[in-house]
Amino acid sequence: MFYESPVESLYIHVPFCAHKCEYCAFFSQLPNGETVNRYVNALVRELELVAHDLKPRTIFFGGGTPSLLTLKQWETLLTAMERLNLLGAQEWTVECNPATVSADKAKLLRSFGVNRISMGVQSLDENLLDRLGRIHSREMVFKSYETLRTAGFENINLDLMFAIPGQTMEIWRETMREAMALGSEHLSCYEVIYEEDTPLFYQLKAGKFSVDEGLACDMYEELRAFSASQGFHQYEIANFARHNAPTVSEIPTYACRHNVNYWRGGQFYGLGPSASEYVRGIRAKNWSNTIMYCEQLEKGSRATESKEELAPLARASEIAAFGLRMNAGWPFEEFKTRTGYDLRLDWSAEMENLVKLDYGRNNGERFHLTSTGIRYADWAAEQFLKV
Ligand code: SF4
Repeated sequence: MFYESPVESLYIHVPFCAHKCEYCAFFSQLPNGETVNRYVNALVRELELVAHDLKPRTIFFGGGTPSLLTLKQWETLLTAMERLNLLGAQEWTVECNPATVSADKAKLLRSFGVNRISMGVQSLDENLLDRLGRIHSREMVFKSYETLRTAGFENINLDLMFAIPGQTMEIWRETMREAMALGSEHLSCYEVIYEEDTPLFYQLKAGKFSVDEGLACDMYEELRAFSASQGFHQYEIANFARHNAPTVSEIPTYACRHNVNYWRGGQFYGLGPSASEYVRGIRAKNWSNTIMYCEQLEKGSRATESKEELAPLARASEIAAFGLRMNAGWPFEEFKTRTGYDLRLDWSAEMENLVKLDYGRNNGERFHLTSTGIRYADWAAEQFLKV
């Protein structure tokens, strides 16, 4: 396996949300001033522990709701990152909830080098926003988008959801139309999934609504067609980006480089409660408990809950499967350089099988899923796993 040194990717988890959304299984909790301050100080300590091994090309603050941190808490974090030589990433994303964007915060983030915002919109229909337990209104989306553009953000992603209970095709079309009319550089669009232990999951189990798989498929196809007509290039199952030229050879200009690194099986540090990381063949995960996380860092060590090292073939197969999520698939030579294995030798039967089903294509240089195959990418990817 090839590992670059120092590590070039950093994920930071901010585990606070003003309200828990009905479908959410991410680790997050309601904020109280004291815990958030304690978390910020612990995070600075964790950054200090890994800074010697980091030269971030991409940084991603996710959550939770990173935009919920106050101006002062952001200042503490950003000045610590400056002191630790962690500024200057080529792509630096912060996730924002439209309800917690302010001009001052946007200006501060931009001034330290944050250059990409990912905004959780989910829907532009007020009833569905309520249904999902979102704290923002549709008006807040338009206002926050304007605030971010005024602060100088030229790379904005909008997160949307489809197949929400109660969402008709007409509502989905209208949300897509209004969202794409904003002119963002990137879109991430996910079908609602019913994660165990979420309110939406229990409502489904209790028979309060049913899932219409056919409608969900139709919504996905409309998304692919409409986003293409609006100048977006799909480069992953759920991700669409603009490109600075008419045709895309590998990935579009505004693809999220941080996520591309995940799908290509690259290394990354993961900091904050519940964050996972993958560094030099070791996958590790922090405790999903903010107080335990803080206590551990206050004692001077990282808050690692678990660590595992996968056998090389198992890891290579995982990397093969991840890469299939991307429209570009896997260039054979690149896969060989990264993993030491050759898809043409070790996965020839699996590739052949997908080609027969018209789910995959081998053009001699790379293997990638077809437009039909992308719809079944999770299943196709599973075929590549070897344990
Ligand atoms: S804002 Fe995001 S992280 Fe927070 S509860 Fe909602 S979906 Fe989960």
